[in-house]
Amino acid sequence: MILYLVLPCYNEEEVLPETAKRLKEKMETLEEAGKISKESRVVFVNDGSKDRTWEIIESLHERDKLFRGICLSRNRGHQNALLAGLMTVREECDAVISMDADLQDDIGAVDEMVDRYLEGYEVVYGVRSSRKKDTFFKRSTAQFFYRFMKMMGVEVVYNHADYRLMSSRALEALSHFEEVNLFLRGLVPLVGFKSTTVTYERGERFAGKSKYPLRKMLSFAFEGITSMSVKPIRWITILGLLVFTASIGILIYSIIRYAMGQTIPGWTFLAVSIWALGGIQLLAVGVIGEYIGKIYLETKKRPKYIVSAYLK
Ligand code: UDP
Ligand code: MG
Repeated sequence: MILYLVLPCYNEEEVLPETAKRLKEKMETLEEAGKISKESRVVFVNDGSKDRTWEIIESLHERDKLFRGICLSRNRGHQNALLAGLMTVREECDAVISMDADLQDDIGAVDEMVDRYLEGYEVVYGVRSSRKKDTFFKRSTAQFFYRFMKMMGVEVVYNHADYRLMSSRALEALSHFEEVNLFLRGLVPLVGFKSTTVTYERGERFAGKSKYPLRKMLSFAFEGITSMSVKPIRWITILGLLVFTASIGILIYSIIRYAMGQTIPGWTFLAVSIWALGGIQLLAVGVIGEYIGKIYLETKKRPKYIVSAYLK
C-alpha cells in the first residue's frame, strides 16, 4: 500500500526539520513492518510562507526522496492548502493521511490508521481522547464550537480536527465537492464510505507559535456553520413569525384598551418596540446577507488554490 502524508505548512521553519526527522522514522518503521510500500511519501504544502519554510522543504527534498513539496502561489489558509495537497497527490497513492506540521497530533496513531485502512475502511478519523494539553481558552471555545455545530445541524466528528486517513477513492469523491467556501471537516462525513475513528492524545506544539489566532478561529467557526447549514436562516424566519404573532397580540390588546378608554401615552412602549424590531431586522438582514455573500463567491467559481511548484 502506498501511503502519502500531507502536511500544510505556514511559517513553520522552526518545526519542519524536527517534523521531517520524526516522520522519516515513522515511515521507516511502517515500511519495515511491511505495512506500506517504499513508494510512500511525505508531502509538505507550503501555504505562501513568509519565512524559510519553502527553502527547508526544497533542501529536504534534495537530500531525501521521501520528502516532496508543493508550493502554493500565495497564502490561502489551512483548509485550502490541505485540499491542494490532497488533490495533487490523490492519484499517486492508495491513501493519504493529513496532519498538521507541528505534530500536535500524535503520529503514533498513524499505525492504527493504516491498520484500519488495511481492514477495509476508507476514511479513518483521528479523534482526540482529551484536551488536557490545550489552554483552558482553546479547550472551552473548541467544545462550544462542536456543540454549536451540532445544534446547527452540521454533521462533524466530535473532537476531530483535520487528522485523518482517506483512501484515494474517497479523495476522488471529495474532488467533486466544488464549493469555494471550504470546510473539510464537514464535507468528509458527506463523502461517506466505510469509516471509523482512532483516538490519540493531542500534544503541545514543540516549537513555533499557533497560526490560528482567535480571529482566524472565529472566522473558521463562522465559515463552518454558514457553509454547511441553512438553519440560521430558518431560525430567523421563525423569529420573524414569533415577533409578528406577538405584534398582533399587542395590537388587539391596544384596541381593547382604547375601546375601554384607558389609553395611556405609551411612549416607552413605542420607543422600545421600534428599537427591538429594528435590531431584529438588522440581524436578519445581516445573516441573510452572509448567505448571499456566499452565493456570490460560489458563483464566481474561483480556484481555491494555485500550485506554483511540485517537487517530486
Ligand atoms: N496553516 C496553513 N495556513 C495558514 C495557517 C495555518 O497551512 O494560513 C497550517 C500550519 O502550518 C499548521 C496547521 O495549519 O500545519 C495548523 O495550524 P496551527 O498548528 O497553528 O493551529 P492550532 O494547532 O493552533 O489550531
Ligand atoms: Mg497546531
